[in-house]
Amino acid sequence: MRLRNVRGAREALEESDYTINVPEENKGRWHEIFGNDNEIHLEIGTGKGRFIMELASKNPDINYIGIEKFSSVLVRALEKQREMELPNLRFIRMDAEKIEDVFENGEIGRIYLNFSDPWPKDRHAKRRLTSRQFFARYNNILAKTGRVEFKTDNRPLFDFSLEEVEAAGWKLDSVTYDLHNSDMNDGNVMTEYEIKFSKLGNPINKLIATR
Ligand code: SAM
Repeated sequence: MRLRNVRGAREALEESDYTINVPEENKGRWHEIFGNDNEIHLEIGTGKGRFIMELASKNPDINYIGIEKFSSVLVRALEKQREMELPNLRFIRMDAEKIEDVFENGEIGRIYLNFSDPWPKDRHAKRRLTSRQFFARYNNILAKTGRVEFKTDNRPLFDFSLEEVEAAGWKLDSVTYDLHNSDMNDGNVMTEYEIKFSKLGNPINKLIATR
């Protein structure tokens, strides 16, 4: 993801009704933001928001929150949301490391991780969103029946993630090394990176992890 500075991005996010500026204030009370008790699904590392916006428009009975570390990227998602005004979608600009400060135990129904940053150096492994350290965080915020869905074209990151799921004491519910040619592809919503890398001929890996 290019991290070009986008002028006014932070201010645009702060002024929008669709971004939550002090997310910790809503811990355990996210249903009040949406005005209903529908399930809440997160996408972590939402980028420019294509995936979560399509899901939110297809599933009005599910609430969605997109989490993204960088304003310069998230502001692009916000521009689309300003046009679509999906009532069941909000964004948070934050580092997912702090996710347990923002969501109560069991408050989340599902977590999507799409084309997460690989952090290729071993000493940075714990920053990967599919590391055992992150699964421990997901374990707290996810409802018992909740799941994590992860897609990537990066095979070393995918192989690492398969090991981390088991090391974290989770189960692999489904796995494919070629999503677009598998029965896991039914209802698949493509992300920006997925479109880009599948056009280059890269197979897409996907896993679903539960407890
Ligand atoms: N999910 C999008 C897609 O598939 O098109 C974007 C993929 S991009 C490679 C990864 C995104 O995750 C970047 O926008 C990055 O800023 C964000 N990200 C990485 N680590 C994060 C973290 N710890 N918390 C929040 N966002 C993060």
